[in-house]
Amino acid sequence: MTNIASLSELEQSIRNVPDFPKPGIQFKDITPVLADGRLFDSTIRHLLEGIPAGSVDKIVGIDARGFIFGAAVAHRLGAGFVPVRKKGKLPWQTHEQSYELEYGSSTVAVHTDAVASGERILLVDDLLATGGTAAAALQLLSRLGARVVGVRFVIELAFLDGRRRLGDYEVKSLITY
Ligand code: AMP
Repeated sequence: MTNIASLSELEQSIRNVPDFPKPGIQFKDITPVLADGRLFDSTIRHLLEGIPAGSVDKIVGIDARGFIFGAAVAHRLGAGFVPVRKKGKLPWQTHEQSYELEYGSSTVAVHTDAVASGERILLVDDLLATGGTAAAALQLLSRLGARVVGVRFVIELAFLDGRRRLGDYEVKSLITY
């Protein structure tokens, strides 16, 4: 595909839904990007920038929209894909990590055999907000002995400063609000 969509075209295609799922939240809806073959392809190409083939062993995607982007990136790189899921969804033995939400807490899990010690990992999710989810995923990867080479988001809500919680990892986002 020759005519790759620019980041500003991708930004214009993301739908902002006020007060979803609750009052005060500006929900960034990426389904219009997914539904358009050129925009979806362009998003994956932008996510792949600076990541040469052969430089990562596995992509780790975060439940649930991180699976969509992460799996497409993995396929392009010829890398494996590993899901980090909400607690209770994975069928085998898991490591779990809890993190605080605005109200209450949540827990993510990964299979104990999903990543071998020393494997090179790229973590992918659709959106970085407070950083709690990605920080919990990184803690799981650290327990597995993974070598995280980078973290990629399609969207970053920079005003929430979620990056602060992701330590020294190389974090890049395509679109920043
Ligand atoms: P956080 O742990 O606060 O960084 O939240 C990140 C996760 O929540 C991501 O997996 C997103 O899919 C989702 N999320 C948080 N805020 C939004 C938002 N405003 N629009 C869409 N998804 C969001």
